[in-house]
Amino acid sequence: MINQQLINPTSIVVIGGSDDLSKPGGKVLKNIVDGNFKGELFVINPKSDQVQGIKSYRNPEDMPDVDLAILAIAAKYCPNTVDLLARNKKTRAFIILSAGFSEESEAGAILEKQIVEIINDTESCLIGPNCVGFLNRNYNGVFTEPIPVVDEQGVDFVSGSGATAVFIMESGIPKGLTFSSVYSVGNSAQTGVEDVLKYMDETYVAEKSPKVKLLYIESIRKPELLLKHASSLVRKGCRIAAIKAGTSEAGSRAAASHTGALASSDMAVDALFRKAGIIRCYGREELATVASILRFPFPKGGNIAIITHAGGPAVMLTDILSEGGFNLPLIEGYVAEDLLAKLFPGSSVNNPIDFLATGTAEQLGAIIDACENDFDQIDAMVVIFGSPGLFPVYDVYDLLDEKIKTCKKPIYPVLPSVITARNEIDSFLEKKNVFFHDEVLFGKAFSKVMQNKPPADLPDIINAINRVEVRKLVAEAEDGFLEPEAVSRMLDLSGIPRVQEEVATTIDEAVECAGKIGFPLVMKVVGPVHKSDVGGVELNVSRMDKVKELFTQMMKIKNCNAILFQPMASGMEFFAGIKKEGDFGHMLLCGLGGIYIEVLKDVSSALLPINENEAHNMIKTLKSYALIKGVRGGKGVDEVVFAGILLKLSELIREVPEIVEMDLNPLLANEKEIFAVDARVRIERINNGI
Ligand code: ADP
Ligand code: MG
Repeated sequence: MINQQLINPTSIVVIGGSDDLSKPGGKVLKNIVDGNFKGELFVINPKSDQVQGIKSYRNPEDMPDVDLAILAIAAKYCPNTVDLLARNKKTRAFIILSAGFSEESEAGAILEKQIVEIINDTESCLIGPNCVGFLNRNYNGVFTEPIPVVDEQGVDFVSGSGATAVFIMESGIPKGLTFSSVYSVGNSAQTGVEDVLKYMDETYVAEKSPKVKLLYIESIRKPELLLKHASSLVRKGCRIAAIKAGTSEAGSRAAASHTGALASSDMAVDALFRKAGIIRCYGREELATVASILRFPFPKGGNIAIITHAGGPAVMLTDILSEGGFNLPLIEGYVAEDLLAKLFPGSSVNNPIDFLATGTAEQLGAIIDACENDFDQIDAMVVIFGSPGLFPVYDVYDLLDEKIKTCKKPIYPVLPSVITARNEIDSFLEKKNVFFHDEVLFGKAFSKVMQNKPPADLPDIINAINRVEVRKLVAEAEDGFLEPEAVSRMLDLSGIPRVQEEVATTIDEAVECAGKIGFPLVMKVVGPVHKSDVGGVELNVSRMDKVKELFTQMMKIKNCNAILFQPMASGMEFFAGIKKEGDFGHMLLCGLGGIYIEVLKDVSSALLPINENEAHNMIKTLKSYALIKGVRGGKGVDEVVFAGILLKLSELIREVPEIVEMDLNPLLANEKEIFAVDARVRIERINNGI
């Protein structure tokens, strides 16, 4: 529970503050002093009366009341100290830097639990333990370096790992990134990444609060909270970029269905981020680059002008931007001619605009002005300008600085000469700019930012489901896989089309079923979960004597208790399925089905419930989307019908959250209809909170 005592304390005590700057207790104190903390500062150190020139108390009892305590003492002393401060000194915020808690041992976990109890009991805030600390404009409560420039326009950064927090800052600071706050939440004993986002959401003030949030997450403990507050922040105008490290778990899970085997916890993370509108990054450089891009105003569209004095990087950037779906509009006509006349002979203005190695600041100014005012087809500019070291480029970077601050269209500076033009870049950064040193890294991150979609709205209820009957069906069913009849009925009650079916347990019934279905038909064993694997699927059966022969044979297959008859159908094979992913909720997957499912792994996913937009996006993002659209005169599949099935599945789960796994594989599809020829549903009440 983040509070004012943490954010803006009037007094801070460093418990275990020392003169030794190689110790966390020494370094954090120095950082606070160097950061010109405006409030009162004390130290508790049993051996001194003064530490780094700051008043030190040997015994905490003697100290005045204090808002915030930063603990840098051995874990075993922490619970008592927290207790004393929280109960006797009105301390309501604690940052515990010390390690040796739940991350280390059982005994440590017990200490951590004791601390959390005191913290919660006294309605206090705890950051850590086992973290590098917290900093904002009011104080530098971290024991590490680097200390970033802290300003109102900086990014808010929350990290589940202290060391990684430091390294991400190492990556961002040289790019010119400034910070508004940095939270290292350590073991997240009380306050995790999700809780910090909740705080930021609840205290968000339009036009005032920082707009860019960066997250480094190792485990998502409260996915629902993350989704709620991340999407709320994005809806308020924030942009969130996050790294979620560590996939694991998925492989070890035994899965009975294709969907189960394909779904992974990492896919659930992806789905959660997509739903929340979070930009997912995979490394520090990428995160810092994305964050830098988010510092610029958002371009109106994807029409980019590349302005350069060097051909190579412009070509590489052109490639990467084209791949990312951007447009580099051709610049021509008399305005272009006018501009060309201002440049040296041999320059080109078509886009990329190349004003040659000898290009001047004045010429760059003319190009930027033309892009800003005359070329309506341009939404944003990327300026690549380095130096071969013959003369300084201060004038160019000063001009860039001025144009970035005055133009309406965003201008992204790619400055490759980080050695040769170091001084010029530093002076550019001092004017509160960010820059990109590599055009391809920039281009990839830019594509990612521009392709990121807003958070998904909750779906309207489509009323496709017979709620009463479907609930009745589930109430009567036992945990585990539903019987085929129950599955078929569930599909019918949900409005999900399926192939006609008949079930026989005797040879006479088999003859009757075959008569009803007609030839050619399909016979399948009832009982075994994976029917083909046990030789339990016979396709294209076209004679009655064959039906009888197969019936006798198939009934002998292990666990087979009946034979299912279906007409032999045709169509392209797709699949759709559902998997409960722990606290993330239900995940819906769909993709190309049949034999291709494992090979191509062409799967898209979303967390339920989904809206119409999300359903269509799931289909559109499949690699096999071209097949759905129909290739080379092929008829394709009705996308709207497919999306309709996904929406009905979403609604089914809303009614029946007991479903932990569901598989429609395959769905046979043609240009008019899509229907299931094989379906499995597993329900589980225990372990599912129901
Ligand atoms: P399982 O998945 O248990 O092995 P299925 O019922 O999915 O069994 O059947 C295996 C394959 O047989 C399907 O992937 C599909 O290619 C084909 N198939 C099944 N039922 C039909 C049907 N009614 N019409 C045409 N092909 C079918
Ligand atoms: Mg199947």
